[in-house]
Amino acid sequence: MKVEVLDHPLIQHKLTLLREKDTSTAAFRRITREISLLMAYEVTRDLPLETIEIDTPLERMQAPQLSGKKLCLVSILRAGNGILDGMLDLVPGARVGHIGLYRDPHTLVPVEYYLKLPDDIRERHVIIVDPMLATGNSAAAAVTRLKQAGAVQIRVVCLLCAPEGLRAFHEEHADVPVFTCAIDRCLDDHGYIRPGLGDAGDRLYGTK
Ligand code: URA
Repeated sequence: MKVEVLDHPLIQHKLTLLREKDTSTAAFRRITREISLLMAYEVTRDLPLETIEIDTPLERMQAPQLSGKKLCLVSILRAGNGILDGMLDLVPGARVGHIGLYRDPHTLVPVEYYLKLPDDIRERHVIIVDPMLATGNSAAAAVTRLKQAGAVQIRVVCLLCAPEGLRAFHEEHADVPVFTCAIDRCLDDHGYIRPGLGDAGDRLYGTK
């Protein structure tokens, strides 16, 4: 399976703060932003570079820059937006797409209600962001939709995964790497990741 656990000590420390049930909404949002910036750093570490000629104040030199059309971040609404903000702090020039998927509460199957992507999506490295890869259904549906739109280089970034969700996701999309801060114990009967951090959207936006 293509999965990378982001084990940087700062990421792991901040994840513990997110899991803690008494962490306030304001702190949860701020820490999610911080951890997302760090995740953006990790998930972009193998982006291709090209060399350009520049002038420093002292002399001309060959210097590296990101090559090609660069990044498109795609947020799975609504909780993905919590991750998006921190990633954009690090890569402010990235294009942003949104995909609206809600989980049918009975079947847990994702239903699409919104899609807006940049026209040149096929030329960009796409990073799909969603805090929780639980059943894996939403991430898999988002990847399917992005492949239909022509995207070829796709990664998924999340805070937490359930092992069964990760397996299900890779059964559909073995080619798409997942970057996560932790792989938790299991999914419960209500589709929550255990031990998890609760409902990421509610904790980000204080809706419960
Ligand atoms: N979505 C969440 O927000 N939390 C979970 O534990 C599972 C899915």
